[in-house]
Amino acid sequence: MPIDNIIYFDNASTTKVDPEVLAAYTKVCETTFANASSIHFEGQKANRLLDKSRELILSTLGLSNTHQVIFTSGATEANNIAIKGYALKYKNRGNHIITTAIEHASVLETVKQLEKEFGFTVTYLPVDEHGEIEIADLVSAITDKTILVSIMAVNNEIGVINDIENIAILLKSHPKIAFHVDATQAIGKINLNFKDIDFISFSGHKIHGLKGTGALIKRKNLEVLPVISGGGQEDNYRSGTNDVAGAVSLAKALSLANSKISQNRARITAISFKIYDYLESNPDLYEINSTKDNPYIINFSLKNKKASVVVEGLSNKNIMVSSISACHSRKEAYSHVVEAMNKGENLSHNTVRISLDESNTIEEAKVFIDELDKLIRGIKQ
Ligand code: PMP
Repeated sequence: MPIDNIIYFDNASTTKVDPEVLAAYTKVCETTFANASSIHFEGQKANRLLDKSRELILSTLGLSNTHQVIFTSGATEANNIAIKGYALKYKNRGNHIITTAIEHASVLETVKQLEKEFGFTVTYLPVDEHGEIEIADLVSAITDKTILVSIMAVNNEIGVINDIENIAILLKSHPKIAFHVDATQAIGKINLNFKDIDFISFSGHKIHGLKGTGALIKRKNLEVLPVISGGGQEDNYRSGTNDVAGAVSLAKALSLANSKISQNRARITAISFKIYDYLESNPDLYEINSTKDNPYIINFSLKNKKASVVVEGLSNKNIMVSSISACHSRKEAYSHVVEAMNKGENLSHNTVRISLDESNTIEEAKVFIDELDKLIRGIKQ
């Protein structure tokens, strides 16, 4: 699905909607538009579509009826419901939360709010120069007050993959602690075993679904305090009239993405290696912040140039990349992730992220390399 004349290397920010997903959405809008809470026939028809979408999402992720799907507007909302909802529900059991220094803002700002307004204490696990946490640091952070651990599956800026399967197994021996995983950049890209995870968040628009769609998958026997109160939809965990078409489109986007994981990975790896080859052969210009394990996200810092100038210069050549994650690139000028990797001020202020998907090609990578090289060598300091 290339966009005419544009090289779109910003797929971790958002993706183009898949035509099949859009068709599924439109069909529901046209044929099953009744309110899923209405008890009449049309309402029940809509409700059945919601349930079918939940089943498809769970089965695609290898989950069963141990878990339930709560439809949300995206990962930000899912992260808020899981973290705030769980912490506030079980605050009598303890007031300590563990997360990492490199989570997305929708996790970091949520735990900070719990710290500031609700008396929680939060441990932010540090990362090494590759962006990896130490399992030993997690183990030693656990106290008898810990009730929640929130660790992302894949980081959205540098693509580092956390070993969430082993962390989940480790946390099983701490029954009081719930484990939340922000899986937004992992879902549809890597196969993971989610069975031992209590809360999983993701967004539709990162996997060729629609913006404004997403879900929190929750272990059924754990409760959360509703963050949004109202008519009691979504088992009272997220009130508001259901977006049935959105739910159907989300399930469709997820099952399509999951069915292509291995075929996409091979293609995208070849493209990413081409870009890494160029970056690695110019160590005086670039500091590489990502690793080749995750071909979807390539992140590097410019050693002698301003990232904003390069991102704009590439944009003028119809090549879309991002400096730090699009969610906050306008309000902050540095990467908290690269900063946490201890790479210093200059490198954390000048990061470039390329995020690939199945529509990208080796030819696009060649054009990108060519234009980047010209730009870097041409810009005056
Ligand atoms: N978590 C991660 C890891 C993300 O990459 C994003 C989107 N950048 C979010 C959460 C938030 O997703 P949304 O903006 O769709 O709510």
